Amino acid sequence: MKICSHILGFPRIGWKRELKKSQEDYWNRKISQCELKIVGKNIRKKNWTTQKDMGLSFLSVGDFSWYDHVLTTSMMLGNIPSRFLYDGEVDLDTLFHIARGVSFNRKPTFPSEMTKWFNTNYHYIVPEFNQKSSFHFLWKQILEEIREAKNYKKDIKPIILGPMSYLFLGKSGDLNFNCLSLLPKILPVYQKILKCIKNENISWIQIDEPILALDLPDEWKKNFIYSYKFLKSDLKTLLTTYFGSITHNLDIIQSIPIDGLHIDLISGDYDLQNFNKKLPQEIILSLGIINGRNIWKTNLLECFHLVKNFQKYRKNIWIGTSCSLLHVPIDLDQEIHFDSRIKNYFSFAVQKCYELFLLNDAINKNKKTLLESWVLPLHEKIYFNQLNKKNIQKRLLNLTEKDYQRKNNYVIRFKKQQKKFNFPILPITTIGSFPQTKKLRFLRAKFKDKILDEKVYKEKIFKIIKKNIQIQEDLDIDVLVHGEPERNDMVEYFGENLDGFLFTNDGWVQSYGSRCVKPPIIFSDISYIKPITVSWIKYAQSLTKKPVKGMLTGPVTMLLWSFPREDISKKIISQQIALALQDEIRELEKNKINIIQVDEPALREGLPLRNIDQEEYLKWAVKAFKLSVSKVKDTTQIHTHMCYCEFNDIMQSIVDLDADVITIENARSNMEILKFFKNFRYPNSIGPGFYDIHSPNIPTEDDLIKLIKKSMKLISYKKLWVNPDCGLKTRTWREVKHSLRHLVNATKKVRILQNH
Ligand code: GLN
Ligand code: ZN
Repeated sequence: MKICSHILGFPRIGWKRELKKSQEDYWNRKISQCELKIVGKNIRKKNWTTQKDMGLSFLSVGDFSWYDHVLTTSMMLGNIPSRFLYDGEVDLDTLFHIARGVSFNRKPTFPSEMTKWFNTNYHYIVPEFNQKSSFHFLWKQILEEIREAKNYKKDIKPIILGPMSYLFLGKSGDLNFNCLSLLPKILPVYQKILKCIKNENISWIQIDEPILALDLPDEWKKNFIYSYKFLKSDLKTLLTTYFGSITHNLDIIQSIPIDGLHIDLISGDYDLQNFNKKLPQEIILSLGIINGRNIWKTNLLECFHLVKNFQKYRKNIWIGTSCSLLHVPIDLDQEIHFDSRIKNYFSFAVQKCYELFLLNDAINKNKKTLLESWVLPLHEKIYFNQLNKKNIQKRLLNLTEKDYQRKNNYVIRFKKQQKKFNFPILPITTIGSFPQTKKLRFLRAKFKDKILDEKVYKEKIFKIIKKNIQIQEDLDIDVLVHGEPERNDMVEYFGENLDGFLFTNDGWVQSYGSRCVKPPIIFSDISYIKPITVSWIKYAQSLTKKPVKGMLTGPVTMLLWSFPREDISKKIISQQIALALQDEIRELEKNKINIIQVDEPALREGLPLRNIDQEEYLKWAVKAFKLSVSKVKDTTQIHTHMCYCEFNDIMQSIVDLDADVITIENARSNMEILKFFKNFRYPNSIGPGFYDIHSPNIPTEDDLIKLIKKSMKLISYKKLWVNPDCGLKTRTWREVKHSLRHLVNATKKVRILQNH
C-alpha cells in the first residue's frame, strides 16, 4: 500500500520576510491593500510550488494568515467583538484592528489579548466569547485559497482549527462563563464550512485539535466526542494533534468517526505497537516523524526502518512533519555564509519537505540508497566529538548539591545586604533596558557591518550609558541600570559572546503578527570565552555612587529561545549555559558589581503541557538558574525578572529560585497577581511591577500611590520594591522620563507616610 506524505503547514512570512515588510508598509499607509494582497498571493504561490516541487502528496491550504491563524478562525466564524464592528463592515482592516487596536478610519480601541501558542514562542490572538457570542461563516479566505491552490496541484488538503481547540483557546471577560456552552452555536457553522469545502471537490480536510495533548476536563472530553459525531460528513477528516502524546486521550479518538489521525512522534512519547492496537484499523495513522520545531537534519534511515517495521502492523500509514513548519526558518539555501560541512547538519522548512519526499519515495520503492547518502554527514561523528568540550563535561560531572545553594539563607543575606546598601524603604529600580532609538539601532548595525570601528563604537555606547546614568541620578532612582544599549536581543547578544552558538542570516520565525525572531542554534557544548558585560557595567558603575545592576539573561531563557541540540538533554544544555553565566557573574563580582540581575522571562513558557511532566521540568529549570547565581557572596544581591506569564501555578518554583529580589510583570493584568499574596507569603523581596510598559499611557502619581499602598497591604513594606513591569526598550524617552518621574514621586510620598 502506497503511503502519502504531507506537512501540517508551511511558514507564511515569505523567504525574505515579505509579509512582515508589506504589513508594516500597509499599516504605515505606504502601500495599498491591493498591493499587500499581491504580496500574500505571491507568498502562497511560492509555498505551494515548493511543496509541489518537493513531491509532497498534498498542498497545504489554509496555513496562510494575515496576522495569526487563530484570528483567521475568529474571522471565518464571524466571531468579531462588537468594539471592532465599524458600520457593520468586516474586512481585512477589521482583522488588523482586532490584532492591533488601531486601523484605518477606525477608532483606536484596546486590541484582543495575545498569548503564547501552547509551549511555543508563537503568540495567537485570543478569541473573545460571551453569552451573546454568535457565529456564521463570514470570512471565506479558506475557499478562496482552495481555488487559488488548484492552479498549482489537484491534491489539496485544507487546514482548519477544530471547534474544540478554538473554544478552549478563547476567553470570556466573565470568569463564570463556560465557553463550552457555545458549542451548539458553533458546530452548525463548522458543519456548513465543511460542506462548502467539500463542494470545492476536496476529499481530505485537516482539522487541528492540538488540545488533545493536554489534560482535558471530563466535560471537554465528552463534548469532543459529541462534536465530532455531529460533524461527520462525507469529507474525509484527518484529525491532527501535536506538541505532545495523546495516548491519555485515546478513548476520545476511539469514539469518534474520523478517517485519519495525525500524531506527533517528536514531542510525544508513544508506544506505537500498543497505540496501534487500540486504534481502529481503518483509520489512517499519520506519523509526524520530521521535527517541525527544530532545525537538524533528520536521520531518515532510522525513520525508514521505523515506518517499514510499523507497516507490518498497519497498512494505512502516512508520514508528515510533527507539527506545522511555522516554527522553523524557511530555507537553508539562504544561509550562504555557512560552510557546506556545517550546512549538512541542518534542514529548514524546504529541506524538511524534501526529506519527506525522500523518505516517502524510499518506502514506496523499498530502496534506501538515497537515504544512506542523506544521513552520511550525521555519521561523521568525529566532527561533533571535536566540538564537545571535555573540560565542560568534567565540570558538570563534578557538580554537587552545594553548587546550587547560596552559602546562607535569605534572612541572613537580607540583613547583610541591608547593611551594605542601606536602601530606603521601597527601593526603586527599573528592569534593565532603556529606549532603543532608531539612532542606536543604526549605530549597532554600522558596527556589525564593520563600517564603524570598535573604538569609535565603544565610545558612542559609553556616551549613551553615561546619559542613562545621569537621567536615573536626576530621577533619584535607587538601583541603576546601564540601559542595555549594546544589545540587539537578550539571547542573541549572549549567544554571540559565548562559544557553542551558531547564527543564521535569514533564519526568521514568526513570533506574532509582523514580528519575527531569529533564534540562535546551540551547536556544541557551550563555554565561556571572555567577560561579556563587564566593561559596560563597570563603566556605568564608575559614574555613580549608587549601585548599578549587572544584567544577564538566564540559562532557561537562553535555551528556550534557541534551537537546541538533540544529542544531549535540555537539562544538560541549561547547566552548560549556567556555568558560563557563573563565570560571568564571578567577573562582575570581581569588578565590584554588587547587584546582579539574571532575567528568566521564558521560564513559564517552557512548562510542559501535561501536569505529570511539569515537576521534572521545573526541577531542572530552577536548578539551572541557581547554578548560575549561587556562588556569589552573601552581600551580592541577586535579582531576577519574569514576564508574560501566569505565575500562580509555578509560584513554588519561583520561591525555590531563592533570588534576593524578583521583579515581575503584572501591571497589564491590573495587578491581578496581588490577589495571590493574600494567601501566600513570598519569603524574599519582590517588585510587582507598578505600571504597564507595553502601553504608551503615562501612569499618574495618584494611581501609583494607590497601587503601592494596596501592595503594602499584601506584601510587607520591608520586602517591597518599586519598578515598572518590564524593560523600557520599546518606549520613547519622553514616556520613560514622565512615567519614572511619577513613580519616584509616588514612592517618596508613600515613604513619608510610612515613616510617620
Ligand atoms: N532586562 C531585559 C530588559 O529590560 C528584560 C527583558 C524581558 O523581560 N523580556 O529589556
Ligand atoms: Zn519583562
